[in-house]
Amino acid sequence: MIIDEKQIKELLDTAAASKEAVSMILERAGIGRGISLEDAAALLLAEDSDTLEALFRKAGEVKDKVFGKRVVLFAPLYLSNYCTNGCLYCGFRSANKGVGRKALTPDEAVFEAGTLLEMGFKRVLLVTGEDPRFDLDYIISCVKAIYARTGMRIVHVNAPPMDTGSLRKLKASGAGVYQAFQETYHKPTYEKMHPSGKKKDYDFRLEAMDRALEAGFEDVGIGPLLGLYDYRFDALAAIAHSKHLFERFGAHAHTISIPRLRPAEAGLDEVPFQVSDTDLKKIVAVFRLSVPSAGVVVSTREGAPLRSELLHIGATQLSAASRTNPGGYSHEKGLEQFSTNDQRSLPEVMASVVTEGYLPSLCTTCYRVGRVGQEFTRKTISGEMEKFCQANAILTLKEYIIDHALNGMKEVLSGTIEEGLKDVRDPSIKNSLLAKLKEIEEGKRDIFF
Ligand code: SF4
Repeated sequence: MIIDEKQIKELLDTAAASKEAVSMILERAGIGRGISLEDAAALLLAEDSDTLEALFRKAGEVKDKVFGKRVVLFAPLYLSNYCTNGCLYCGFRSANKGVGRKALTPDEAVFEAGTLLEMGFKRVLLVTGEDPRFDLDYIISCVKAIYARTGMRIVHVNAPPMDTGSLRKLKASGAGVYQAFQETYHKPTYEKMHPSGKKKDYDFRLEAMDRALEAGFEDVGIGPLLGLYDYRFDALAAIAHSKHLFERFGAHAHTISIPRLRPAEAGLDEVPFQVSDTDLKKIVAVFRLSVPSAGVVVSTREGAPLRSELLHIGATQLSAASRTNPGGYSHEKGLEQFSTNDQRSLPEVMASVVTEGYLPSLCTTCYRVGRVGQEFTRKTISGEMEKFCQANAILTLKEYIIDHALNGMKEVLSGTIEEGLKDVRDPSIKNSLLAKLKEIEEGKRDIFF
């Protein structure tokens, strides 16, 4: 059983812990190797401000230990907003008639990816609705076209659950991480929120990550849509989901996303279970301590100030400059999946990451050198990944400065590189890094550790 609803409910009914007991949990969590489901439940139940402050601090420390100061930046690329599902909270749902639907052709997807590359992005997440007219072959043709005709280094895919054979074909196209969010792990709520379409099938969706890993994907991304049900239940279930993947395949979820329900055209009038900013911070911190190897991904659903705060308590990936309608980067207006709350450009997001004391990164190395799956989980938990992340962030920033940054930003990011170099403690890596920086200055690109 992937999710034991009864066990999760029982833990949330019984795991409340005293301040002293929570301190001991945080002590254990500080090692950076994860904590039990019971400990995670106790942290999710914590409410008093001193305990929350201690939780946030510990999560920030573990983040730095595992991934160093780097914060990975990426952009989503919406391929199609045609959808035959009836998800009550989503702007793409089939009942939302009379609005601009669009599916990019592979040529248009290449154009959008090219626009993102011109901005400086090196990784992209393709997102698509569920419609038989824009099926697996369509997604694969877009993935292949982007690889063949642009310099995009890695293409991740967020697509509806499919059978194992289809996932195998998707993997063979070169897709990096496969993402599909469960939305809510609470089955009765799931069934209420998904009244029609293929997505009605809770189990088929829940088992998608097992099928993806059986099909040859090594990295998968999971996440609850926060606000559909009690966040404590969904956060604990997402952790249980990742633990299941680790027990079965030796690799935790590669990423855990934390989308919080936002108004969408033809969506819900109100959020069924409000999740406050403090709740969201707690969720991020508990994910960081429970699954230290996972990237915790924050989208532009959240506003700039909160996104900055979340960096200090465990978030490791930010989307930036996002458009959530197909063709959005080419200034096409159309149906958005959700309204964004952070419209800043990539340089503006980079500048704020720097202001917060972190290192913006456009790195894509691990997927391309096979540091994935079990090896990725092992290396992150053992503390080996931090040195790669730090060095690769510096290399990608150097490329960005030369190829994309405008005056003002060049100086800011050059100073960031100088600061970042001070944190590279291994002398052999430092020497090699300095040599690679010189190669980039001389015109070489895409070099990494
Ligand atoms: S070294 Fe690996 S984990 Fe670190 S930023 Fe690059 S791709 Fe991500």
